[in-house]
Amino acid sequence: MRLEKETLEIAREIISRTSEKEPHFWESSWWDGRVVQWLASSPEIKTGVLRFVDVFPALRSSKAVIRHLREYLPDTALHLPENLRVGRKFLDSGLITPRAMAAAIRLGVTSAAKRFIAGNSMEETAGALDKILGEGMSYTLDLLGEATLSEKEADNYRDRYISLIKYLSAGRAPGDPAVDVSLKLSSLTPRFDPVCPEYASQEARRRLRPILRAAMETGSKVNIDMENYDLRDLTLSVFRDILDDDQFRSYDGLGIVVQAYLTDAEQSLDALLESLKSRDRRATIRLVKGAYWDREVILANQRNLPSPVFMIKEETDASFELLTLKLLENTDVANVAVASHNVRSIAKAVAVGWAMKVPPERFEIQQLYGMADPVKKALVDMNVPMRVYAPFGEMLPGMAYLVRRILENSSNESFLRRLFVNKTPVAGLLRNPAEALAEKARANTPRKREEAVFVNEAEPQFHKDETRKTYDMALELVYRRLGKQYPAVIGGKERLSAETFISADPSDPSRVVGHVCMADSKMAAEAMSSATSAFGGWSSTPPQKRADILFKAAELMRERKFELAAWQTVEVGKTRIEAMADVDEAIDHIRFYAEAAIGLENPNPVKSSPLGESNYTLYRPRGAGAIISPWNFPMAIMAGMTASAIAAGNTVVVKPSSNSPVCAALVVGALRDAGLPDGVINFVPGGGETIGTALLDHHALSFVSFTGSWQTGAWIAGRVAQKPESRCGFVKAVIETGGKNAVIVDESADLDEAVSGVIASAFGFGGQKCSACSRVIVLADVYKAFTDRLVDAVASLIVGPPSDPQSHFGPLIDEEAEKKAENYIVLGMKTAKPLIVRRAIVGPGYYVSPAVFGDTLPDSRIAQEEIFGPVLCVIRAVGLDEAIRIANGVDYALTAGIYTRTPSNALSAIALLAAGNVYVNRKITGAVVGRQPFGGFKRSGYGSVKAGSVETLKELMTARSVTENLSRHGFSPDVG
Ligand code: NAD
Repeated sequence: MRLEKETLEIAREIISRTSEKEPHFWESSWWDGRVVQWLASSPEIKTGVLRFVDVFPALRSSKAVIRHLREYLPDTALHLPENLRVGRKFLDSGLITPRAMAAAIRLGVTSAAKRFIAGNSMEETAGALDKILGEGMSYTLDLLGEATLSEKEADNYRDRYISLIKYLSAGRAPGDPAVDVSLKLSSLTPRFDPVCPEYASQEARRRLRPILRAAMETGSKVNIDMENYDLRDLTLSVFRDILDDDQFRSYDGLGIVVQAYLTDAEQSLDALLESLKSRDRRATIRLVKGAYWDREVILANQRNLPSPVFMIKEETDASFELLTLKLLENTDVANVAVASHNVRSIAKAVAVGWAMKVPPERFEIQQLYGMADPVKKALVDMNVPMRVYAPFGEMLPGMAYLVRRILENSSNESFLRRLFVNKTPVAGLLRNPAEALAEKARANTPRKREEAVFVNEAEPQFHKDETRKTYDMALELVYRRLGKQYPAVIGGKERLSAETFISADPSDPSRVVGHVCMADSKMAAEAMSSATSAFGGWSSTPPQKRADILFKAAELMRERKFELAAWQTVEVGKTRIEAMADVDEAIDHIRFYAEAAIGLENPNPVKSSPLGESNYTLYRPRGAGAIISPWNFPMAIMAGMTASAIAAGNTVVVKPSSNSPVCAALVVGALRDAGLPDGVINFVPGGGETIGTALLDHHALSFVSFTGSWQTGAWIAGRVAQKPESRCGFVKAVIETGGKNAVIVDESADLDEAVSGVIASAFGFGGQKCSACSRVIVLADVYKAFTDRLVDAVASLIVGPPSDPQSHFGPLIDEEAEKKAENYIVLGMKTAKPLIVRRAIVGPGYYVSPAVFGDTLPDSRIAQEEIFGPVLCVIRAVGLDEAIRIANGVDYALTAGIYTRTPSNALSAIALLAAGNVYVNRKITGAVVGRQPFGGFKRSGYGSVKAGSVETLKELMTARSVTENLSRHGFSPDVG
């Protein structure tokens, strides 16, 4: 149904009805009434203002308000509006006090917030709703709030929604439309995670049911909002489960949302309509374009996934029109709500609705509170049912919402802005998006193919059924293959030993993962000899050929990605997300080093060569070396250390950790299957000291690559430094060791982000990461607010078998690790304030509950020593200087981070934090190959090597400077 003529007529009518008056949101003043135009005038101003508004509610003093204003909007750099410039002048000359200036700013921001937020209390909101009803519109109310990070916060949301429904119903006048609320399922459980859909759905429904019962009892409506793409299918599954719930069979007040900007929106809507039809049920379906476009694009880019949203605006607009039509054809099961501020989109919906004679109770337009009010009025006057989506809540959590609205109003894509500010000709604005798209497609010349560069593995999409099922099947496969023999590999031959050792599952130590060859020092020495003999051939193999074998190995691992990850779940207790990340990192490492090594052996010319002389550097492989790897990244680190050495042309003997020999054997298997010549890689599992000593003392050892604890690393460095009998002279030691990493949280931090980031950094894989956060240093002003939320959120973490998708983390690696962590917890109980200590954990594995200690003394042992378990110290600091001093006051320097929205604090942290990897406003774990080269200094490493960078390759090679005299009797080819 095209109805193009009717669409344009309706659109023109709406516009003519609105153009008589300046739109309300446009004319009323924020600072000088032209703020939105000012915002759109430059990207720096827009960023500065949005960031200032974002941090504003966190600023407790006038001084802080003024400081942030100056930092975000420096008057030297930006063209400030007149009143702001004058205000600043008065402030600088002492004519007004910081307090008065801050109060004026507060007034400005609050009035901006009030424009888009219906109220901050129920009473205030009820007034705004009365006004909406009085203007002939209805409403749906959305409760703004912080992110739900704990069970307590989720309970709180549930209770607030129930009270809201009851309060509004009680005050409802006869004839008023039904009370209508909109909610987000992620606010009803801290674990609304698609990796565990059954559990997430069960938890969300547990809190949704009482809300729905309250709605049923009062004849109210409840809409389930859509959030980001990852949560779309999970949200729909909760919706379907509620439809099937016996207690709600007679309830038809439920609503759901479809986002037209998703490339698969149509299929998803078809499935949704089908699920209503097959159940003979009715629901409200709100069609929106989608509010998270930027976020979806950023996330997909960071995860190396295709974008789930359309990249061209007209594609979304065209999709919106298509879905509008589809919805209006299905009003037998759907009450259709078309939510948009785009007059063309609305007009199309109205044209179709009128043509199909859809009754008013089956079709309405929705718009946001405070946006496009003249359009709302025009539609009401044209007898189109109109509902206002009205958020309400406190200023602090409301800021994120306000930022989104300001962004939308100042966006060049905004229909309203183009209509009212840019005065774009109406004909262009009302153009059929499908036609505009077709024209663009005709005009587009095919894009040039981009140069091949290293690209990281795409993140697994656990929101897809297929991904989760594949993981489950991989786990089943691995369980069937447990208990096999894992031999050593020397010179291409598999070797068994009389003695073997057992690699056990840390979540159930009676489960044997594999029987592993216990190599002795003789075998280790043989392996070194084999690597030495293979060196000549391998080092003279062209780098491209070496790389091709490594690429093949990466491909073989990619084919078995899920199975390899499942082996990690079983052998070291990684949850599926952590395990997949480790395999992805292993593949990344192999491909990254293979690619980076190509060309490294070519002459690297020195830039400052004079005429008649050629100066260049040549990198050559070192020889045979030992790879001694840890268990906590059983494939990623082992593969990275091995691949860097091999790609550079060296040969190796790999000694894996005795806690992860099977994982290591699988990587060795992939490398051999890919065609590595015999002897290039040798594999000798066994006792650290026995094998380690034999390898380190071998006369032909030319380098050792070690990752593990500082104690072992220091011992190795000492041992290889003193080798009078070594034929290779100095033995190169590449050593990466532990950390005692800190995150600083300052007064301006976004606590939603800080709490969730600290939890991910401290408790991911039970804190068994060298990069884990084990100290969080919180400035006194936010200490209580941060700690209260942290404690509730940590209390909500689920510790259990890593094979259960809902577990946040599984067991520690072995009994020794469990005892060590428990001992530190006992110590913490004596020396700090236990905030959370023990919840019973059932199961035979080495489980340790997360522990958090408050007011920890910076010099106490728990705040100084690497624990490698789920133990977090909270330390109070008076100011940023002290926080940085405390952060740096340990022997290690691996990772560190800061959560701040004060630009100068971020700069100080970047300049002063002693850590190899510094992170601002994000978790401090999960460095990505090629993106965040990884490694520390002090007791964390030498400081020069960075895993996942070309430097690592160079460390594993020798550099030769070559100088050639080019001139013969005064003639040189580089002259003339
Ligand atoms: P670890 O030091 O106990 O063992 C590391 C490796 O060294 C193992 O293969 C082990 O068998 C071997 N080994 C032990 N004693 C040896 C000896 N005398 N001679 C030769 N080899 C010997 O460390 P781990 O428990 O396997 O790993 C955890 C440690 O690793 C933590 O301290 C962690 O911070 C650190 N780590 C650092 C990084 C990094 O990139 N900086 C990465 C991961 C782990």
